[in-house]
Amino acid sequence: MKLDLVFRGGTIIDGTGRPSFDADLGVADGMIAEVGSIPRGQGREELDIRGQYITPGFIDIHSHSDYTLLVDPRAVSQIAQGVTMEVIGNCGWGCSPIANPVLSSSVIYGYGEQVPITWHTTAEYLERLEQARPAVNVAMLVPNGQLRLATVGLADRAARPAELARMKTLLAQSLEEGAIGYSTGLEYVTEVGASEEDVAELCHVTALAGGLYATHTRNREERAAEAIEEAIRTADHAGCRLQISHLTPRGGISNLERCIEQVDAALARGSDLAFDMHTRLFGTTNLRIVLPPWAMAGGRDALARRLANAADRDRMKTFRNLITSVGDWDKVVLLETPSIPGWSNRSFGEIGRSVGRDPYDCVCELLLAEIDHLHRPMVILHTYTEDLLRRTYQHASCMVGSDATALAPNGPLAVTSFHGAYTWASWFYRRMVRETKTFTPEEAVYKITGLPAKTLGLTDRGTLSVGHRADLAVFDPELFGERGTTERPSQTAVGMTYVLVNGVVTWRDSGVTGQRAGQVLRGRKREG
Ligand SMILES: [Zn+2]
Repeated sequence: MKLDLVFRGGTIIDGTGRPSFDADLGVADGMIAEVGSIPRGQGREELDIRGQYITPGFIDIHSHSDYTLLVDPRAVSQIAQGVTMEVIGNCGWGCSPIANPVLSSSVIYGYGEQVPITWHTTAEYLERLEQARPAVNVAMLVPNGQLRLATVGLADRAARPAELARMKTLLAQSLEEGAIGYSTGLEYVTEVGASEEDVAELCHVTALAGGLYATHTRNREERAAEAIEEAIRTADHAGCRLQISHLTPRGGISNLERCIEQVDAALARGSDLAFDMHTRLFGTTNLRIVLPPWAMAGGRDALARRLANAADRDRMKTFRNLITSVGDWDKVVLLETPSIPGWSNRSFGEIGRSVGRDPYDCVCELLLAEIDHLHRPMVILHTYTEDLLRRTYQHASCMVGSDATALAPNGPLAVTSFHGAYTWASWFYRRMVRETKTFTPEEAVYKITGLPAKTLGLTDRGTLSVGHRADLAVFDPELFGERGTTERPSQTAVGMTYVLVNGVVTWRDSGVTGQRAGQVLRGRKREG
C-alpha cells in the first residue's frame, strides 16, 4: 500500500478558482500524492466522500490567535470550519518581540496570564508556539505595537532617531528569525503617534526580507480613503507587498467606494496589494481602548484614581477612538463581563439610561470595576451591513479572514468569546454561496485558499495538486454553516466532515481527533 489515506468520489475544488471535478485524492507522507482515479486497495484507509467537496484547508489571512494558541493549541473553532492555517500578528498586536512583559500584554489579544510571558525575541516566541504543538499551521507578522512599546513606550509621538533605529533592528531580527512580515494598527493608542516616515522605514526593512506589510490603517471612518492612500504610498515607497486589513470603513457605501477606488488606482499603477475583510456586521474590540495614553501613565493605581475623578473623566471624554467614533452609545454593546452583573450584553446607551448617568461615566465605572482585568471587557460596535460586506468581498483582491482568536468550547478558553471565531468561514460559505449565491463554491473557496496562499507566497499550500501539503477540508456543501450567534457565539460550525493538517486527520466524526500537526511556517530566508 503506497497511500496513507484515499478520499473516494468527492468533488474537488482545487483552490485556484477553476471549475470543480470529481476525483479520488490520495495522501501519503503528509502530501497530496495522487489526484484522479485511484484503484481500490491503494490506501491504508479509504473514505467514501461522495456528495461532498474536498478543498484545500482554509487559510485565515487575518487572525489574532498569537496568545490563545498557547493557551489551547487545539484551535477547535477554526478546525471545525476547515481552517488549517492562520496568519497571526495582525493589526500591530501580537506576542513578540517583547522588552517589558507587563507593558507588552496590552497589545496581546486574549492575554490572561494562563501562560506567562517568558520569551523576548521572536525566535523564542515561535519556539514556544512550536512547543505548544498547534493544530493549525501558523505564520507570524511582527506587530508594530510591540516594536513601539519596546522603544517609544506609551508616548504619543513619532519615534526619535535612536528609537527608530532600535525598532528597525528588532524588526529585522524578527524577520530573520521567521516572521513573514510586519503589521501596524495605526488607529490604536500605542501606534497613533507613529509617523508615516517611521512606518515607511520599517516597511523598507520588511521589503528587504521579502516580507508582507499588513496594515490596520490610521483612519477607518470619514478619512478612510486618505488612510488607505497613506498605506499604499508607504508600501510603494518601501517596495513592499501590501495587505490592507479589514478594508471596509465605517460610514456606509460611498465611503467604501472611495476606498475601493484607491485600491483600484494603485492596482492599475502596478502596486502589489490586496486586502481582507472579516464577516461580522459589527466590530469587536477591547473597551479599554477608550482610555487615552495619559490616563494609563503611572500604572494601575493612577488609572484607578483618574477613572474615579470627574474632572479626569471629562478630559478622557475628549479622546477620540474606535469606540467613541461610533458616535452612538446605543451601538456599543458590552459583552459578558462578570464585575457588574446585569450590564452584560447591553449597550452603554441602555445602561446609561437605566442608571440615569452619562454612558461614558458608566464605561469608566466598569473599567474601574475591572481594573485588575482590563483586557476582559469587550464591546461590539454595530457598524456594518451585509451589503457593505458583500460589496467588499466582490472585489477580486479581497480575501476573507476571521479577525478573531482561535478558541475552543471546552478547556481553558471555554469562557472566552470572540465574535467571528467560530463562524467566519462557515457564515461566509452559508451566506455568500448557498443562500445569496453571491459566489460560486469555486470562487468562495479561492478567497480563503488560493488567493491568500498567493499573497503569502506559499507554493505548496492553498491549492490542491500533487506534491502539495495535504492541508485539506472535506465538507457537505448543503450543510456547512455556522451555529454561533451574536448572543451565543461560542458554538462550533457544522458540516465539516474531515480536516487534515499536513496529512494528519485533525477533525472527523464532528469532533477533533486530538492530533495536532500544525507547523510554524517561517519566512523565506533572505537571499544573497
Ligand atoms: Zn484590525
